[in-house]
Amino acid sequence: MVTVRPDAPIRRLKGASVAETRSAIVDLIRSSGTISRTELAERSGLTNATISKIVRTLLDDGLVSEVGYAESTGGKRAVLLELNSTAGYAVGVALDTAQDVYVLVDLSGRPIDARSVAGTGTESPEAVVARVARDVAVMLADHGIDRDTVIGIGVAGEGRLDLPGRVLRSTDSWSEWDDFALGHALTAATDLPVTVDNDANCAALGEFWSGRVPSTRDFATVYMATGIGCGLLVGGDVHRGASSNAGEIGHMSLRWDGPPCWCGSRGCLEVLAAPVAVVARARTDAALVARLGIDTTTDGDDARAVTADVRATFARVAAAAVQGDTGALALVEESAEYLARAILNLVNLLDLDEVYLAGPGFATAGERYLRAVQRELHAHAVMRGTHPVHVAMSAVGRDAAALGAAAAVLHARLTRTRAGRG
Ligand SMILES: [Zn+2]
Repeated sequence: MVTVRPDAPIRRLKGASVAETRSAIVDLIRSSGTISRTELAERSGLTNATISKIVRTLLDDGLVSEVGYAESTGGKRAVLLELNSTAGYAVGVALDTAQDVYVLVDLSGRPIDARSVAGTGTESPEAVVARVARDVAVMLADHGIDRDTVIGIGVAGEGRLDLPGRVLRSTDSWSEWDDFALGHALTAATDLPVTVDNDANCAALGEFWSGRVPSTRDFATVYMATGIGCGLLVGGDVHRGASSNAGEIGHMSLRWDGPPCWCGSRGCLEVLAAPVAVVARARTDAALVARLGIDTTTDGDDARAVTADVRATFARVAAAAVQGDTGALALVEESAEYLARAILNLVNLLDLDEVYLAGPGFATAGERYLRAVQRELHAHAVMRGTHPVHVAMSAVGRDAAALGAAAAVLHARLTRTRAGRG
């Protein structure tokens, strides 16, 4: 068996378009902090002349600054380049039934502000758009940021996607959002470009833009909120599939004779392991219900109340598990085992060596999930003899989806549109 060392910058930039090359150079500068033209040439595999030309356009556009000199290595000292982080801003909005999160980031992806407000619940899409437009205007005003310097708004939504600009909601409670042109509506309300993506893709982009993962690595971010999704970064970009819905790990069928799932299949990861499943199981355990004071009566008509209730109950079960309640621990461990098995399949399918866990579902008992996944991959990943598979909690934390949505704006508009690809 041949082991291929991923010196991917060179491999990937061969045959790349001008826009892709410029995008990769912006990313190298961003992820390096400061870097010289010579280093850029070495790390990208491009000639010094090509690098000089690209850097000139980035300096002219004000995206990059020259910020001093590298340590002398005997010859002429090299000029260091840095991303001009205050040249622009992006807003990230994570829409969620229970809680919406807004973040403001600078050009480097560094968060300047993060706020959470009541979730979309049963509000109409039009009302949500009007509210988001107002909240974003207030956040920009609070920081004295001129709208002209805002590159765009990124929205992370639950559910499946119909790009560009529309989010198709996948459960009954979201039916009002089906076919609603969210991107267009928010652009009309804010006069800013809007990028729409699902929460898992955003979380993966957030990981990438936080500088933790270089653009040359392929990795997956598994995102758990009420359900479970997965964002795949391949070759420095989100892998989308035929209809922008790649990464539906929640519907990986793990038991052909398992409980039915709303998707029509059986034994899907989501019905076996997602917080909604754990909570349903907890509610059938009378002793656990009594011990944890779990409310078993919920108002079935209010989507926000139901989701908030699932989140709160799951957090209670997770906290009890961490504190050693055997009943709660058994439920969390079972969920973690299923998740670990699904991630094993994913890792084997794509030969991944990096996986991150993100989202509010991992907030309390994340370590339990992390250990279960690590154990499973260590024991059973097909390529474990060739390379280890690194699993970690997301560095971008609970605001991962909103931060990633802002990063999606930077990713789409900074590194591409400005390079002329639209
Ligand atoms: Zn399913």
